[in-house]
Amino acid sequence: MPESSISWNKETDVQFIKGVGPARAEVLNEFGIQTIEDLLYYFPRRYLDRSTIIPINRLKVDQEATVVGKVMAKGMKRGRRRQFFEMVVQDSTGILTCRWFRGAKWISKAFKVGEPIAVSGKVTFFNGLSINHPDFDQLGKHEADPVNTGKIIPLYPGSEKLKRVGLDSRRFRKIVHTILPKIQALASEYLPESVREQEHLVDIAYALKNIHEPEDEDALGRSRRRLKFEEFFFIEIMLALRKYHFKQMNKGISYEDLGSLFEQLYRLLPFDLTDAQKRVIREIRLDMKSEQTMHRLLQGDVGSGKTAVAMLIASVAIGNGYQVAFMAPTEILAEQHYRTIQSYFRKIKVPVALLTGSIKGNDRKSILNGLKYGDIPLVVGTHALIQEGVEFDSLGLAIIDEQHRFGVAQRARLWAKSEQPPHVMVMTATPIPRTLAMTLYGDLEVSVIDELPPGRKPVQTIHYYDSKRLMMFGFLKKQIALGRQVYIVYPLIKESEKMDYKDLEDGYESIVREFPPPQYAVSIVHGKMKPEEKDISMRYFSEGQTNIMVATTVIEVGVDVPNASVMVIESAERFGLSQLHQLRGRVGRGADQSYCILMSSYKLSNEARKRIETMVSTNDGFEIAETDLKLRGPGNLEGTQQSGIPFDLKIANLGKDGQLLQYVRNIAIDLLDDDPHLEKPPNQLLKKQLSMLAKDNFNWSVIS
Ligand code: ADP
Ligand code: MG
Repeated sequence: MPESSISWNKETDVQFIKGVGPARAEVLNEFGIQTIEDLLYYFPRRYLDRSTIIPINRLKVDQEATVVGKVMAKGMKRGRRRQFFEMVVQDSTGILTCRWFRGAKWISKAFKVGEPIAVSGKVTFFNGLSINHPDFDQLGKHEADPVNTGKIIPLYPGSEKLKRVGLDSRRFRKIVHTILPKIQALASEYLPESVREQEHLVDIAYALKNIHEPEDEDALGRSRRRLKFEEFFFIEIMLALRKYHFKQMNKGISYEDLGSLFEQLYRLLPFDLTDAQKRVIREIRLDMKSEQTMHRLLQGDVGSGKTAVAMLIASVAIGNGYQVAFMAPTEILAEQHYRTIQSYFRKIKVPVALLTGSIKGNDRKSILNGLKYGDIPLVVGTHALIQEGVEFDSLGLAIIDEQHRFGVAQRARLWAKSEQPPHVMVMTATPIPRTLAMTLYGDLEVSVIDELPPGRKPVQTIHYYDSKRLMMFGFLKKQIALGRQVYIVYPLIKESEKMDYKDLEDGYESIVREFPPPQYAVSIVHGKMKPEEKDISMRYFSEGQTNIMVATTVIEVGVDVPNASVMVIESAERFGLSQLHQLRGRVGRGADQSYCILMSSYKLSNEARKRIETMVSTNDGFEIAETDLKLRGPGNLEGTQQSGIPFDLKIANLGKDGQLLQYVRNIAIDLLDDDPHLEKPPNQLLKKQLSMLAKDNFNWSVIS
């Protein structure tokens, strides 16, 4: 194959670029880079320049910093326990020592004395300024001094796999450099002229050139804005189109009557609905009455009473002769919901079935038959419900609890289960900031229960360091003496499962020692127990036979014991904000004052400290969500992974660029108001670009 750059176009395979070749191309393919275009859209993760590099003599201990200098010396050192690798970096102001205790052998071969290098990490002081296990990037000769030359050097997302075939940042810069001169021919504009002009957006060729090789700060800033803008713009257009598509295509089941079951169930509830619950039920009712299929997100803080709403809605569908599927993300939750739901529906003579992965054999067969022939009007379950082999006679409504593990693809599978698509209601206790929810779930309507049932006292939250453990025990004893019950929760994180179970077991033992029988009784529940054992343990606690429940996050969602008034969270620094908030929601359900005690070690990262402070200072789920969003960005925010976002964001950040997102949403909506099918000539290139981006996950019949 001739390596003539003249024949390049954006579809050209990366292997034909100088410096790539078939072996590297294979690795690049794994990272989603197949063509020249893919490479152009593989953006630097950050940049080295005057504003990001710190001279060594200005470094401060504990600071996260990037230093650029030359490798002055390197070598293996003998430590007290084993060898480690040390490298000394020098810039014009001083020296910095970098150390590797892990992977020393491999790393030791990575550097050459005299070579320019950038290192980043947390500065410590040990025999002088040092960084342990820094991130590092080798630089070219002409890149050695960005502070004085004013050059901006892009650093690309790296991985060991890439580095092993020589694809480090330096190589990426070289490879990209060989294609950028052709950028005018490789990149053609697809944003409509009118939008670009109105928003002062630079053209795509300029943006791609400057995102990789910025002329200066200003050019980089404008290029980033343009690229972020287009990502958000595409998302918003796709979501708006999808929503429009649902409206057009899906002739929904219309539930004219409320049906008699609704009335009966309503009378069974041991409480009056809150105004917020009533309003939400009215909103949902309107959807179900109309001939359009409902796609609604129901948000409500923990304990706001979503389940009651769900049951009432379900009774409408069943009363109209349709089946209802209620789906939970885990088996435990499905079982809990099943128990609650069954306790009500039994009284109005509606059979309820439970279907999870662990229900097998004849039980399973008979449930599947019941669903297929319509004998089972209401089924509670896990993902097992949308698997192949599960057929419904007339599925009219699907209720999905905790949507964060349930995405668009799963919804689509649900629709395939019946001739007429069922109404779908997704419930979440994760308080996604309202504005963000609107944008992320652009294809869903949003209802919010923004009121807790009356009589709930706000939970008082306290942070104790581990040294105050005896005080905490003393407090628990007083509460138990008042007749209250206590949860003590231990973290359980997949990667360190073994150690976590050890912590849990040790904790349990020490608690039993502190709270010995016969005066006290302690239950334990964790994920490794058999369902029957778990059941018994939970039942003892909920019936008040045990005072303390030691648990992993199994109890995060769902358990409901109004007499429990204290939630102790061990190693609170290891939990995410939304998880802490969910856990706290387990108490404060009765009439008594409730407490949440966050135990932590003295060593707290800044983020962990912020999380704990936030918990202590507020009970407002939305405020907590906002903070979570700022700390972590929405990629990690529970509830957003499975949102309607049709592709991965490469440059924009939903957390940091939230305002831009709002802004762009309006521009996208304006454009579609003017041209709902993207038929007008100025929008043709946009349409083409969108269809390429969306590929398989979007039904284009809506605009074609
Ligand atoms: P969520 O699922 O939103 O976290 P639940 O539906 O589990 O909340 O309700 C929490 C608790 O509040 C349950 O014990 C439920 O019976 C009770 N509850 C629900 N609605 C009301 C209400 N309007 N008044 C009093 N208690 C309510
Ligand atoms: Mg719930």
